[in-house]
Amino acid sequence: MIVRDTVYIDGRWVASESTGSIEVLNPATGEVIGTVPAGTAADVDRAARAARRAFPGWAATPVGDRANRLRAVATGLREREKEIVDLVISEVGTPRAQAAIMQFGIVVQTFEDAADRVEELFEVEELGNSLIRREPIGVVGAIAPWNYPLYQIALKIAPALAAGCTVIVKPSEVAGLAPYLLAEILDQAGFPPGVVNLVSGTGPEVGEAIAAHPEIDMVSFTGSDRAGRRVAEVAAATVKKVALELGGKSPMVVLDDADLETAVLYGVTSCYANAGQMCAALTRMIVPRSRLAEVEQIAVRVAASYVPGDPDAAGTTLGPVISQVQRERVLGLIDAGIHEGAKLLLGGPSTPTGRDRGFYVPATVFSEVKPHALIAQEEIFGPVLAIIPVDDEDEAVAVANGTRYGLNAAVWSADVARAERVAAQLNASTVYINGGKFNPSAPFGGTKGSGYGRERGRFGLEEYLRTKSYQY
Ligand code: NAD
Repeated sequence: MIVRDTVYIDGRWVASESTGSIEVLNPATGEVIGTVPAGTAADVDRAARAARRAFPGWAATPVGDRANRLRAVATGLREREKEIVDLVISEVGTPRAQAAIMQFGIVVQTFEDAADRVEELFEVEELGNSLIRREPIGVVGAIAPWNYPLYQIALKIAPALAAGCTVIVKPSEVAGLAPYLLAEILDQAGFPPGVVNLVSGTGPEVGEAIAAHPEIDMVSFTGSDRAGRRVAEVAAATVKKVALELGGKSPMVVLDDADLETAVLYGVTSCYANAGQMCAALTRMIVPRSRLAEVEQIAVRVAASYVPGDPDAAGTTLGPVISQVQRERVLGLIDAGIHEGAKLLLGGPSTPTGRDRGFYVPATVFSEVKPHALIAQEEIFGPVLAIIPVDDEDEAVAVANGTRYGLNAAVWSADVARAERVAAQLNASTVYINGGKFNPSAPFGGTKGSGYGRERGRFGLEEYLRTKSYQY
């Protein structure tokens, strides 16, 4: 059992104002592996005041010194790699082979990337009789989800700290243990007191207190649509800047001249990453009706090769979903898919063989899914692929854009110009063309119901800066 009974405020580990705690479970077994404090609005208030006091000094610290603190964080992370990866695996259930990069490598890279890019953003621009300078926005509240517990925090605080902002981190209470390791590393990295603060707790208590606090200038939120809307509503009372990274139901458009074998493998791999619990997962495979049978056959073959199991065991490629509630929700949506008449090709509302403990869902593939069916519209956050046949390119684009979301997308065609023509019409901040590689510095974020604001690289840094023009 890992018992965390403090919060990190003003450079010190202190008791929370509450004595309550929240249990953290291992989703592969259902067992409680630790607890974190159920922080309160009073903790947020202490943290916000500390962050406000620290802000002028941190904002005035030379940008190169700030960048060096971030490099110290990257070094600190590397020194504790095994401990961090082990802990994330036990609280999220990501298979070890996927966790090395997705739960750790890109976290380190995010701190280094912010350190490397920040200096150029402070270059003064001349515009007629004006000089345009950039300055940090102020005190930032960072509210994170559980699916990539450290990466989602890093995406917010690395650029915010580099820009000269001070931060209050609210990790997800569902996977709240690993963020404590990150806070220890931040504590060791030499930030002045109050620059970094961490308050654990629930969304309605700690998250809303952050959104409401008058000393907090900006909230960067990643999570569900429901909570994101609430954050924006609460933040409006103090006219804060808000960035929302919400859900997705991302399409992969396969055109009739595409290399199906490669495309379908890529799509299934994206859909099942982290047991489907990835906001950018390509969960809708939109394919030419004339090639549906081939797509189905490849998708089933690839999906059936997934091995559900202990996330820590060699060979496991499909871990559990995060909780019993989430498992029931995913199984309920699979049921809805069957009742709405979609063709179930693999999996279903069942438990994978030998996985009676923990929160497992089988790799599931549906075909002939109607574009307006629930399983084509709702973010499932489980290993469920929906194959949707269409008759032509225009219909493919209409179906791809036909959800309330707009986050990620992919297009496949033997003709790159044709793929680009389709990409230009898609509501998404990233479009992977013919299996393009993940670029951790390229801007990412929502359109439509997936939110607003950008994370990663230079564009992620710009979110935490504002302009001031000096007129001469
Ligand atoms: P969630 O909305 O339940 O929780 C996210 C965070 O918000 C947690 O820290 C939670 O405590 C907090 N929260 C909950 N209610 C709140 C409230 N009323 N006020 C303030 N804060 C509140 O989401 P989750 O289950 O942790 O994560 C899954 C969701 O996150 C999915 O919808 C997924 O698509 C989304 N997500 C989006 C991105 C992206 O970049 N777009 C990335 C990862 C996850």
